[in-house]
Amino acid sequence: MRIVVLAGGIGGARFLRGLKSAAPDADITVIGNTGDDIHLFGLKVCPDLDTVMYTLGGGIHEEQGWGRTDESFAVKEELAAYGVGPDWFGLGDRDFATHIVRTQMMGAGYPLSAVTEALCARWQPGVRLLPMTDDRVETHVLIDDPEGDGRKAVHFQEYWVRLRASVPAHAVVPVGADQAKPAPGVLEAIAGADVVLFPPSNPVVSIGTILAVPGVREAIADAGIPVVGLSPIVGDAPVRGMADKVLAAVGVESTAAAVAQHYGSGLLDGWLVDTVDAGRVDAVEAAGIRCKAVPLMMTDTEATARMAAEALALAEEVRA
Ligand code: GDP
Ligand code: CA
Repeated sequence: MRIVVLAGGIGGARFLRGLKSAAPDADITVIGNTGDDIHLFGLKVCPDLDTVMYTLGGGIHEEQGWGRTDESFAVKEELAAYGVGPDWFGLGDRDFATHIVRTQMMGAGYPLSAVTEALCARWQPGVRLLPMTDDRVETHVLIDDPEGDGRKAVHFQEYWVRLRASVPAHAVVPVGADQAKPAPGVLEAIAGADVVLFPPSNPVVSIGTILAVPGVREAIADAGIPVVGLSPIVGDAPVRGMADKVLAAVGVESTAAAVAQHYGSGLLDGWLVDTVDAGRVDAVEAAGIRCKAVPLMMTDTEATARMAAEALALAEEVRA
């Protein structure tokens, strides 16, 4: 069974761990979001790709959900001593090495897809991890300008990490996406897949950004295979993070049903909502998307594997 998964960071990575456990023999290709990428201290940082790589490769800081385990922050402290910022993005010493290797390889002319493959040779994530594109895409968020009465665009990381999504987002723009090409292997993986899964990743800034790369949405919609997603919204709120803020920016309510309708029946064949949202099932089905309520909390690998198995079962149901 060939499975394609569109993944952001934590939600995507944790789901993938469950999927690998539920379908150990599956051939899994992950199309990772690179809209969160940022250049810091001259280094190219790819938070979502690294979260997937570290989580599946056994190097993740478990409680935090991102960054390396057993991390130290000597470089960060030394940079701060020089007064060199930004100080709001937590890069640890072990993590720095990843970004140094990546930046060095890219400087030597390797595309991000080749660099990601090289990094994965160390981590052996057990999936094929592809960036959505080798081209530069950066998600920006439009906020009120605190220094004037106009608005200004800030990098997604500045909105999310520095501002902690505490101010309203008026728009979310994946800058560069319209000019981007899918990375080598992305369209081929979709065309050759038996099923496409949307993990409980952020529908706007993770999966939405991947779908914004020209050709990806069309390839998935036209592949003629089941597309099944799992809701990141449980009980009308994100399980973690601030997805409600960016959903509001695109005019979508923070409910499990509204997210399914946002993807739409042209893209999505099946949708899983949490049991607390069982009352939303009818609304999703009325939108032409097969829907089931099952436990969707990724408390441990076993619970997550059950979610993945439910998603694969729903895929077979809609295929029939
Ligand atoms: P990010 O890039 O690190 O923000 O990660 P993703 O975009 O992959 O996933 C973020 C989403 O995961 C958030 O909107 C959360 O609501 C969702 N999420 C995190 N943990 C869980 C969980 O246990 N269950 C469900 N259903 N969603 C979760
Ligand atoms: Ca992310």
